[in-house]
Amino acid sequence: MTSPADYDDNNIFAKILRGEIPSHRVYEDERTIAFMDVMPQAPGHVLVLPKAPSRNLLDADPATLTHAISVVQKIANAVKDVFDADGVFIAQFNESAAGQTVFHLHFHVIPRHEGVALKPHSGKMEDGAVLAANAEKIRAVLA
Ligand code: 5GP
Repeated sequence: MTSPADYDDNNIFAKILRGEIPSHRVYEDERTIAFMDVMPQAPGHVLVLPKAPSRNLLDADPATLTHAISVVQKIANAVKDVFDADGVFIAQFNESAAGQTVFHLHFHVIPRHEGVALKPHSGKMEDGAVLAANAEKIRAVLA
């Protein structure tokens, strides 16, 4: 079973949380942050992370999960509005076998439009200006 001891605090999201690497943040509270995925599977792809270190859902504190999912809901409604989406895809991967590539718990929040395929997971890096503009639009509806 995954345990908190398996958490590596040199993962890229731990560095973002410590401010060592920049991100396009859309939301932050005491326990959670949300920022744009640099390789979005659709415009408006946001990642929601509890600040508490856990490798993934398997070793997370249930109270942390409870708060995080409420933030996922908030961000899902925001991106649905901003990107005029038909639906919102929520994804969360646990361990490499399930597709996880960064080992700090996070939820993907991805606006979906009828008939538009998702781009590949961890595919192509988006232009920073596009991410910044999308983050600004999301922050505006959350304000
Ligand atoms: P996972 O496969 O672990 O569920 O997803 C990790 C996600 O993090 C991928 O969608 C990938 O595009 C994204 N990602 C990887 N490196 C960075 C980074 O440095 N900054 C941001 N904002 N996203 C990243």
